[in-house]
Amino acid sequence: MLLSPMSGNEVRATGHVRQSGNGMCFTRREAMALGFCLCCLPDRGQAARPSGIKDVGNGIFIREAPHEEATRRNRGGIANIGFIIGRDGVLVTDPGGSLADGRWLRSEIKIRTTKRVRYVVMSHVHPDHCLGAAAFGDEVPVFLGHHRLKNALHARGDFYRERLAEVLERDDVGEIIYPNQEVEHAAEVDLGDRIIRMMAHGRAHTDCDLTMLDVTTGTLFPSDLLFVDRVPSLDGSLLGWLAEVERLRQIRPARAVPGHGPAIVAFEPAMAKQVEYLTALADQTRQAIARGLTLNDALPAVTAGKGGGWALYEAYHERNVIQAYKELEWE
Ligand SMILES: [Zn+2]
Repeated sequence: MLLSPMSGNEVRATGHVRQSGNGMCFTRREAMALGFCLCCLPDRGQAARPSGIKDVGNGIFIREAPHEEATRRNRGGIANIGFIIGRDGVLVTDPGGSLADGRWLRSEIKIRTTKRVRYVVMSHVHPDHCLGAAAFGDEVPVFLGHHRLKNALHARGDFYRERLAEVLERDDVGEIIYPNQEVEHAAEVDLGDRIIRMMAHGRAHTDCDLTMLDVTTGTLFPSDLLFVDRVPSLDGSLLGWLAEVERLRQIRPARAVPGHGPAIVAFEPAMAKQVEYLTALADQTRQAIARGLTLNDALPAVTAGKGGGWALYEAYHERNVIQAYKELEWE
């Protein structure tokens, strides 16, 4: 395993964070107009409960989530979340899609260890990854996030909570928890017998993506910088995402825990398939723009990934084209 050079502890205190000025909230239509990602918003339909925790070895436990929208039955548990048990405590790697989901995760931790949850990592702003954070509040952990996560939560948190309250009991939704330690570039967490290395990314899947590497086992936690089987959803920068993938590749991780998909995968083959989709999305969108197609005409022309077996393709691909077009038309 090779590691990219990183500086040491650069965890920055929250007091230094610039905050947006007002308490905005948005309807679904407004959110679409503003370019918010709806990949993780609730659906009124019903679906199966999330499956249980998988022990993927070396003290790492992952809930492999179904490829669904958030529903009452899955309680918002549609992202891969989990925890790492170290000698001195537990690190939660994404606390879940709702307070109910986070409480469930916490109960799964308590089944396996009496050690305290010392760190809760919130990988990015999307609600399926971070709305469960409040379930861990009374353990007083360090809530870790990208230095732009707080602003993103401030702008979108109320909108996400209102949408989730349309399908869950309001008490199960969860309060917004802001990170109390922020990662500007890189940071390390020491669980006693293992180092967890954090990397803050430029705009990619979102504008606040935080990934981490369990150095001891070479396991990468790319969160939603890696979708497997479920079509990727673009809520940041297409070209940025492709660039950040190359940073992850430099780490040469043996295996990875994707934000959506199997609990654990071989990193490179899984990433290669995603890169194929994102690259085709960029190429075909550029071609459509070069041909002078309007956005509406570009939508059916950009068929990247079609027939590739991506789950939820019909729900998200078109939105990806819209995002890509908006980004690439100004190149
Ligand atoms: Zn996401």
